[in-house]
Formats: sequence, structure tokens, C-alpha cells
Amino acid sequence: MKTVSTLLSDDWHERYRRISSLNIRSSIYDVTHRCNLRCKGCFFFSSNEHKAAHEETGIGKWEYFIDSELKRGVNLAILIGGEPTLCLDRVEAFYRRVPTFCATNGLIKVPRDRFPDMMVGISLWGDAEAEKTLRGKDTFAISSKNYEGDPHAYYLYTITPKQIGKIEPVIKKIRDVGLKVHMQLLSNDENVDGFFWSPEELNDIRMEMDDMLDKYPDTVISSRYYHQIITTGKMMGRSFGWAECPSVTDPLDSREPRPKRLINFIRWASDLKTMHRCCTSETRDCATCKDGAAHMSWVMVNKRLHMDSARDLRNWIEVYEMFAKLYRFIPW
Ligand code: SF4
Ligand code: SF4
Repeated sequence: MKTVSTLLSDDWHERYRRISSLNIRSSIYDVTHRCNLRCKGCFFFSSNEHKAAHEETGIGKWEYFIDSELKRGVNLAILIGGEPTLCLDRVEAFYRRVPTFCATNGLIKVPRDRFPDMMVGISLWGDAEAEKTLRGKDTFAISSKNYEGDPHAYYLYTITPKQIGKIEPVIKKIRDVGLKVHMQLLSNDENVDGFFWSPEELNDIRMEMDDMLDKYPDTVISSRYYHQIITTGKMMGRSFGWAECPSVTDPLDSREPRPKRLINFIRWASDLKTMHRCCTSETRDCATCKDGAAHMSWVMVNKRLHMDSARDLRNWIEVYEMFAKLYRFIPW
């Protein structure tokens, strides 16, 4: 029988040991339904998730809720919105209790005296021209000033089909402000003309992402296997989609048979009572879903599928390490 020990050399076994003890239990929280931008293709607004619930404003209620989440076993709170930095008291309530990741558009700086080591993921949708088209503003011009050289921040670069052949200058400017970058793909939830992916474009972007990882290994947090999975939607002969997705809210998950999934995962609305279907858009057709975290998690919960060969298991380890770095469980 193939085991981890028989498949891995000593150094890979050590890497395996480091991640296998992490036991990550994440959930996602809409901190607010407000935002200081309105991006074309934002999954939150395009699926009306901002109208799903009335925002809870009492900080005591948030604190009580977070404590109950800890009792549920959550050890990673992923804060999204809307824009979480509009409600720093709520962000702080999480940060003081549980390992916390904050997604932001970077327009408001998270004060580091209050949140010294909170991991911050800054959204970026391309070069200045693409950002103006899709988000109405060149956010990098502001966010890069707010976070230059910050060791606990990175760019979450959502690549669109219009970025093919144009990624490198974006990666370089991120490197030049002393930050890291992780890449994912736009799902085009609002059907913006010209922003759908064709199979050829997905193949091209995969090559380009691989190239960026090779050229800028100190800046790009990624893995070739992740690029393969996210651009093909295939893993070991299986196809990503509703039947396989690991990031469905647990109490709403009535799928039969149940796939391998994130344990106890819930995505909460900002009333602290309503649950959303999954980690991303409530209304997205799963067949078009390019959500990066869902694809990463899909790999991570399916370790057994990767036990046939040393190469498969090393691919699995690299994706797990990437996730652990992005959420500050292990250093860059
Ligand atoms: S910054 Fe984020 S939450 Fe706000 S509109 Fe854009 S994608 Fe949506
Ligand atoms: S939209 Fe994506 S993340 Fe949500 S259930 Fe479908 S496949 Fe999963």
C-alpha cells in the first residue's frame, strides 16, 4: 500500500508534517453589506447578497457571535463584505479572538498599531486601465501607498481575459512596492461583455501564470498544480462544480452523496443569522465558477486522490502550503 512515508523523500515529508498538523477550520463572514466601490462583476452585489440581511450594528452582538463561532471550532475567520475596513470595530472583535484574514480593496488602510499582524488580502483586478473599466478607479495607486512593504499584506489579483499578455507589468509593480501576489480568475458574474473565458484563453493564461511563478518566485504565491486546476476545472479526472464543491455552507448542504468538504464551514451574512449558500455568489452557475479558494480547498480536502504517485502528493502539498501561507498559518 502506498503511504505518505513511502511516497515522499525526507524533505517533502517534513513539509507534509508541517501542514498536516494545522487542522484549519475556516468560515467566512460578511462584516458589512456596504462598500466604498461598486465593481462590475462583484459577486456580492450582483447576487443581491447585500440585501439578504439587515446588518447587525451592536458590537456586543458581534463579540458574542464570534465567541460562539470559536466554540463551533472555527480557527480561521475570513472577513469579506462589502468592505470590512468600513467597520474596524467588528474586524477588531474578530482579530482579538481568532486568527483573522481581512479581504479589502485597500482604499482604507488597516491601522497597524491596532492590527499589527493581521493578514490583509488586497483585491486587484488588473492594470490601471482594467481597474478603471471594472471598478471605476485605479485602486492600486491608493492601496500600494497604504501597504507598501507590509509583511502581512498581499495582492489578490483577479485576472480577466483582457489581461492575457499583460500580467507581467502588474506582477512587477507589486514586487516593486515590496508585496506578494496571489492570482485567481474572474468569474464574470455580471456578464460584462468581453470578460468571458474561452478554453483557448484559459490555456494561454495558465501558461502565463506558470511563467510568472517561474520568473518571480519571491513575489508570486502560487503553484503550477493550482494553475492547472483553476484553468481546467479538472482534478484527477473529476470536474469541479456543485457536486464536488467543498465550500458549501454546512447546514445548507443537502447534497447526496456528500462530497469531501470543508468541515463545519459556514458563510454568514452580516445579521449574524442568515447563511449564504457558499463562499461566493449565491446565484452563480457553478459550471462557470472560478473561485480560487474553492478550487484550492477542493484539492486540499481530497488528499486520498493524490496518493497514487509521489508527484501527485507533492502537488497536493504545494497547494496546501499555498493556502497556509495566504492565511498566515506558515511563513511565506
Ligand atoms: S471592492 Fe469588493 S465588495 Fe466592493 S464592490 Fe468591489 S468586489 Fe465588491
Ligand atoms: S458557485 Fe462556486 S463556490 Fe459556490 S457552490 Fe458553486 S462551485 Fe461552489
